Amino acid sequence: MKQFKTESKKLLDLMINSIYTNKEIFLRELISNASDSLDKLSFEGINNPDLHVDQDSLEIRVSFDKDARTVTVSDNGIGMDKDALEKDLGTIAHSGSEEFKRENKEHQGEDVDIIGQFGVGFYSSFMVADHVRVVSRALGADAAYAWESDGVTGYTIEPAAEGERDGADDHGTDVVLHLRPSTDDENTDRFLSEWGLRDLITRYSNYVRHPIRMMVEKSREKPKPEDAGDDYKPEYETYEELETINSMTPIWKKRQADVEQKDYDEFYKSTFHDWEDPLRTVSFHAEGALSYDALLFIPSQAPFDLYSKDYKKGLALYSSNVLIQEKCEDLLPDYYNFVRGIVDSPDVHLNISRETLQQNAQLRAIARRVEKKITSELQAMRDNDREDYEKFFDNFGRGLKFGIYNSYGSKADELADLLLYWSAKQGKMVTFAEYVESMAEGQDKVYYASGESRERLEQLPAVRSAVDHGYDVLLCTQDVDEFMFQVMRSYHVDAKAGDSEHKGTEAKDYDLVNVTTAGLDLATDDEKKDAEKAQDEHKELFSELKDAMDGKVDDVKAAAGLGDAPAAIASEGPVSLEMERVISHGPE
Ligand code: ADP
Ligand code: MG
Repeated sequence: MKQFKTESKKLLDLMINSIYTNKEIFLRELISNASDSLDKLSFEGINNPDLHVDQDSLEIRVSFDKDARTVTVSDNGIGMDKDALEKDLGTIAHSGSEEFKRENKEHQGEDVDIIGQFGVGFYSSFMVADHVRVVSRALGADAAYAWESDGVTGYTIEPAAEGERDGADDHGTDVVLHLRPSTDDENTDRFLSEWGLRDLITRYSNYVRHPIRMMVEKSREKPKPEDAGDDYKPEYETYEELETINSMTPIWKKRQADVEQKDYDEFYKSTFHDWEDPLRTVSFHAEGALSYDALLFIPSQAPFDLYSKDYKKGLALYSSNVLIQEKCEDLLPDYYNFVRGIVDSPDVHLNISRETLQQNAQLRAIARRVEKKITSELQAMRDNDREDYEKFFDNFGRGLKFGIYNSYGSKADELADLLLYWSAKQGKMVTFAEYVESMAEGQDKVYYASGESRERLEQLPAVRSAVDHGYDVLLCTQDVDEFMFQVMRSYHVDAKAGDSEHKGTEAKDYDLVNVTTAGLDLATDDEKKDAEKAQDEHKELFSELKDAMDGKVDDVKAAAGLGDAPAAIASEGPVSLEMERVISHGPE
């Protein structure tokens, strides 16, 4: 028996116990290797027609034997000869696939889309298996060889047994895992079942481009006997059938113009378990130094748990059609946490772990582009399809507001332009920009009022008075609104260059002011004079009223410009009454 080198032993241990947090990915790794071997064969076949490679016959087979506790992954790909078994499987962290890619790139100037590159994936088998036997026959080789190991002490390589790939055309590889017993931590028994394997294949390897087939048990009605009487009841029998388990067509690789919306809708609903079609679908692609395909969906409706602690944002991350992470958080900013979708990049490494993902520059570059795409999709919807946008905003607007509340400037301007508020004057939802555009002559502030409901706010004396004086007021009814306004402080409008028809404008900041805050000077001079007069005339009454309130108010005075409202409660300082209520009772 050959011994693993000590470094290898250590590495193996490290690998098995720390690179992968999730044991079930072993199947993904073996299927990816099988897929690579089919790609290599296919590649050789195209470059060398004398080999007569039948491209249609390439396939991956997965099977299990419950009694023997084995799971087998087979391919009819390029196979490994004795040397390759030694070099590629016997040397941990040596990747034959990476070598193949390098060689073929140099020689043919052609990039082969092969998944493997680190030379450790195969060893993930030992997370679930205590013994692995690999039988392989290289394309054109005289014989098959078997590599065996317990993953701890070392490995053996011997000629394969009789009946194991002994036909001249039997090139390819069988990887047979003998599974460890189930423990409290890991249920390995589930891998010894059709549903268990099917689950892993559809989850991790659904978009591998070669068929992954499995013998499955099915049931059918027996033919009705000719002499069956009236009381005949149909009988059923089980039979076995080879089924292709993976769907193979990665819809995100296609150009949006080539896909029908209903296919995207189906894909979205089945992949993300929603029963409504998405509100928007965005697909984009990058090529060059960093290549990737991305497919994003803006849902029509917020999932029930969106605002709960348990909600996890993220996009599914694939590398060459193979799932790496179901929810890669780093690909989405918090305020776009509602977006569902997929990013697939051959440049992102398969066995990347959680920690390194965060530091991954490529991933950050993709995340930036994803964010930009979502922003521009929302802007377009806001400008061109207000009905849909209001629906969107109704579902997800609260998250955008929290985004402004948390993002101190950097993205706040961009996000602010995505907000909608009810305009007391115009009687509809408006953006800040629309508010500013329809502002009264000389107005240089954005007025808002916050409270429980639109109806109540519309009745607020301060709001009615402002509207009567020609000032619009944005009515805010969400708990986060006022906190967000505190952080925003002002609405910023960029400078606009002029042209032959329009005058240019300078950049400007419009302070956000709560209309109920005392000292707001909306009243006309006449009204002010009236108020002053009233203040003088009723001084005693006001002071008695104040005493009667017994410390509940700071002062009682005549206010200018309340319109037909008899009285109003106002607050001084930055915190409005509404916000005080939220602070003392907590947001609803
Ligand atoms: P990687 O796939 O990152 O290269 P692995 O540890 O998964 O690393 O595999 C190591 C090497 O073993 C591969 O690069 C490949 O050369 C070889 N190999 C593994 N499985 C197969 C297979 N089914 N057919 C042919 N070669 C294989
Ligand atoms: Mg691999």
